[in-house]
Amino acid sequence: KTKKIAIYGKGGIGKSTTVSNIAAARSKDSEVLVIGCDPKADTTRTLVGRRIPTILDILKLKKKDLNQEDIIVKGFGDVKCVESGGPEPGVGCAGRGVIVAMNLLERLGVFKENLDLIIYDVLGDVVCGGFAVPLRENFADEVYIVTSGEYMSLYAANNICKGIKKLKGNLGGIICNCRGIENELEIVEEFAKIVNTKIIGVMPRNELVQKAEIEAKTVIEKFPDSEQAELYIELGENIYNNQKFDIPKPMEVDDFEKFFRKFH
Ligand code: ADP
Ligand code: SF4
Ligand code: MG
Repeated sequence: KTKKIAIYGKGGIGKSTTVSNIAAARSKDSEVLVIGCDPKADTTRTLVGRRIPTILDILKLKKKDLNQEDIIVKGFGDVKCVESGGPEPGVGCAGRGVIVAMNLLERLGVFKENLDLIIYDVLGDVVCGGFAVPLRENFADEVYIVTSGEYMSLYAANNICKGIKKLKGNLGGIICNCRGIENELEIVEEFAKIVNTKIIGVMPRNELVQKAEIEAKTVIEKFPDSEQAELYIELGENIYNNQKFDIPKPMEVDDFEKFFRKFH
């Protein structure tokens, strides 16, 4: 059975970094498909070594007779890479692009392939209908939230929990992508406990991430022997083997404020 997961989190928190590195890590043992659902369309850049054309771009040029080869690019470890893309900034609905992309992938039979793991990289600042698509339409079965211990990131994580609860999704856990703030792990652990879930992995801040990124590579590819690579492999395993899911219990806004003040 294909494991279908969605990674949500605030913009800039490290979703794409996490997704591309765990995809690269899992590619050793699994057939992996990565679907970037962020209009930034940079999820797969470090897997392929460059930006790939998005589904929305491709549809602009060619509407008929599309096949899988037109939209899927193979990256490191033969990971299959797709980007949904987005509209021109300021125009149209970005979530709509995700819907169009998902429908096309389904029509082309991409989901019927022999895949072990499908990872969706989804924006989470806006928990609007558009970005809920991978979850709402049951394209993904499990959700993992990336957060640091920072206020805005946890605020977004709490909102994402509200969305998951509403859509009756399965929360697999929280990935703590550290910023290096004081008591960070303690804050995120407490947050996880309150919203009724667990931490599935802790990624330290590490300059190797950006060094690899400059060359459009994952840490797994560029620094395979590093401790950071080891941690991404472990995170990939933890997620791949996870069978325990929770229905989140998000906080009300006032409770969230109280929770956060406790640490400061
Ligand atoms: P998102 O996809 O959530 O918008 P990105 O994955 O693009 O975020 O990460 C944003 C920036 O933070 C990138 O420049 C990335 O290299 C950096 N980054 C992410 N995780 C780490 C980390 N663990 N250590 C160092 N830099 C990181
Ligand atoms: Fe953006 Fe969501 Fe509104 Fe679409 S529905 S325009 S994705 S906020
Ligand atoms: Mg991203």
